[in-house]
Amino acid sequence: MTTVDSIGNQGVLQAEADKTARSTEVGEASSRCRFCQATLHQSFVDLGMSPLCESFLRADQLNQMEPFYPLHLYVCGRCFLVQLQEYVTPESIFSDYAYFSSFSDTWLAHAKAYVEQMTSRFRLNANSLVAEVASNDGYLLQYFVAKNIPVLGIEPAANVASVAIQKGVPTLIKFFGTATARELVAEGKRFDLVLGNNVLAQVPDLNDFVGGLKILLGTSGVITIEFPHLMRLMSENQFDTIYHEHFSYFSFLTAEKIFSEHGLTLFDVEELSTHGGSLRIYARHAEDGSKSVTARVHELRVREESAGFARLDRYHSFATQVNETKRKLLEFLIEAKRSGKRIAGYGAPGKGNTLLNFCGIRSDFIDYTVDRNPHKHGRFLPGTHIPIYPTDYIKQTRPDYVLILPWNLKDEIMEQNAYIREWGGQFVVPIPQVKVYP
Ligand SMILES: [Zn+2]
Repeated sequence: MTTVDSIGNQGVLQAEADKTARSTEVGEASSRCRFCQATLHQSFVDLGMSPLCESFLRADQLNQMEPFYPLHLYVCGRCFLVQLQEYVTPESIFSDYAYFSSFSDTWLAHAKAYVEQMTSRFRLNANSLVAEVASNDGYLLQYFVAKNIPVLGIEPAANVASVAIQKGVPTLIKFFGTATARELVAEGKRFDLVLGNNVLAQVPDLNDFVGGLKILLGTSGVITIEFPHLMRLMSENQFDTIYHEHFSYFSFLTAEKIFSEHGLTLFDVEELSTHGGSLRIYARHAEDGSKSVTARVHELRVREESAGFARLDRYHSFATQVNETKRKLLEFLIEAKRSGKRIAGYGAPGKGNTLLNFCGIRSDFIDYTVDRNPHKHGRFLPGTHIPIYPTDYIKQTRPDYVLILPWNLKDEIMEQNAYIREWGGQFVVPIPQVKVYP
């Protein structure tokens, strides 16, 4: 005999299965895989409609219409690339990009360590040539310049590129692809090291981008690319790192397929802690015998295969996991509000906006959020319209809970704001699941 409880559960599960089936049908209409061109049939996760995560609002914009776009990811049944349709043109997102890499001390330290590591491992010197694709404000190339190693940055956002140029980092203001790569090669440039950090996910034409890397690369040169690791995103429930600016989400297996299609062999890989868990892949020309494939490549390939990343069913479980995370977070917030608690947010990162919009968390749960970036003060979060204050506002209002939105920085934030314990305040981290830190 079935209990009431389990009937209820079956109802929920059936409803979820129906929803997945419906979204699969919708996807069949038009879309094709950005890498292999197979038709996309398989829904990965549907986070509903969401505004662009960096479009903070001024007070006078609150009563205006706000554009929302679907945040629905598919997984390709042939190559397993997890991807978002291009609903918004990259020009509109990146041409006047407000993100300056040099504002983050942690990220600068990461860049500096990378430069030391590459210089010694690949013996770079004044006769070498290094290119960075999406070089931002020169946050990384400046360390090569300091070592007298010639560099070229390639960056489409004119405002950040001009900061790099002022710093003495030569920068070409252009979108990168095969056309730009051919122009550079025609000028006689071939590179010993070509790097790209957190750009691969943001490229709408993946084949044109990787094809361009191949063209730029000198005979025995090295490409390194860093991107968030899909295996970590899934195992640690980091669905809030999905946003419109990120078109693609890669496992190592899929990245290997893409580079191999363009005549590039991945000969090494490192697992990094940045952005919730990233991979740094190392590529060379397939015919370059001077660098053999390391054990780390074999080990990670085997680990992903045994975790099911070469089978479609592994990808199907993610949506259920995400929906359950949403319910648990809402349960916590509803319970807190019912018992009269006051909740503030900490931070206004892109990931926070995905989380809050998907979960429908507005000022009914979170009174306000705070941020260290003065450009955000007095503005409102896109979609949810939660106001953003300077961090001091927490001291003035003494909330019971502080929900940390940039969970990747939780240790640093809890340390800097430990004073909330003076009035019994507690930190809450939403991902991988709700956790209260007394
Ligand atoms: Zn595909």
